[in-house]
Amino acid sequence: MTGHTMTLLQPALEAVATAAAATRAVQASREDISQHAKDDRSPVTVADYAAQAIVAMVLAERITAAEDCLVVGEEHAAALRQDDHTAIREAVVAVVRTWRPLTSEDDVLQAIDACNHDGSANAYWTLDPVDGTKGFLRGQQYAIALGRIERGQVTLGVLGCPNLPIDCGASLSEPDVLGCGSLYAAARGEGAWEYPDASPDQTPVRINCTPWTPGHPVRTCASVEAGHSNRSDTDTMLTSIGVEAEPVRLDSQAKYAVLARGQADAYLRLPTSAEYREKIWDHAAGCLLAEEAGGIVTDVCGNPLDFGHGSRLEVNRGIIAAAAGLHPRLVEASQSMGLCHA
Ligand code: AMP
Ligand code: MG
Repeated sequence: MTGHTMTLLQPALEAVATAAAATRAVQASREDISQHAKDDRSPVTVADYAAQAIVAMVLAERITAAEDCLVVGEEHAAALRQDDHTAIREAVVAVVRTWRPLTSEDDVLQAIDACNHDGSANAYWTLDPVDGTKGFLRGQQYAIALGRIERGQVTLGVLGCPNLPIDCGASLSEPDVLGCGSLYAAARGEGAWEYPDASPDQTPVRINCTPWTPGHPVRTCASVEAGHSNRSDTDTMLTSIGVEAEPVRLDSQAKYAVLARGQADAYLRLPTSAEYREKIWDHAAGCLLAEEAGGIVTDVCGNPLDFGHGSRLEVNRGIIAAAAGLHPRLVEASQSMGLCHA
């Protein structure tokens, strides 16, 4: 973690906060959020494309060296350029123009395409412009997740959770539509912080993932989507360590934020298939946030996540993120269930 890397944090925070404001506006104003299905049949919306364009544009404006602006982003503009996607393309440009009125359609498409780095450089960003798109479509949790990877390690993580109430006493099942949502950042070796009013201009407050000690209840969280994390294995694992309470279900990396701020003791993402490899943009920012808050993040074998293999976590399977004290018990349960070699 160098001083130079640290200078990239403020631009990253501004990029995420600006994109978060745009996605909030899309969710508030559009009854029917334009969307289409990607090749893998997962949904992509106006907000995903607009947020990616905005993050790329803010980074390019705020960071002088082009080599510091490489981004491995989730979205691509190819589908948007097609004639049958004119309506969604125009809607994306309209969203970006609410922030920068003079932006051309070409500027927007080029900004989305600028996030096409393949992860082969020594250092780059990884961006999930709307992580948890299904949660976004349901009006629930989603996140704008921007992580910086340097030589296979996450060095910076910024997570905007526009629907996550900053008040840990508020219900996690109610989106924070009237508040400001939450904004988090972490820097390797420096800590994890929450920004009051979800504003990058406010003085941040340190967050801590409280260690778990035996005798205390175990509060867990997991995906809403059954296809993203194995529910029966999760039940078996929790039962085997004596936990009866069901996980709280949340979309997106908001789960890492909830763990990092001490509101949950574990985030479990157990594999649903032998083939699936997790995407770097689904974990980079959140993983560093949880670790810098004092939590431990590994795969189901107990190995650290290795971000040095391009856009996927090629050598890891599933995720076990948990408070110190609890993490070893979960990994032990995973090993006795045979999840590591499944
Ligand atoms: P979540 O909101 O935590 O359920 O995660 C959303 C992310 O799940 C999306 O960004 C996808 O990249 C990812 N995803 C899609 N299919 C799978 C799968 N089979 N296993 C794990 N994650 C998946
Ligand atoms: Mg995602």
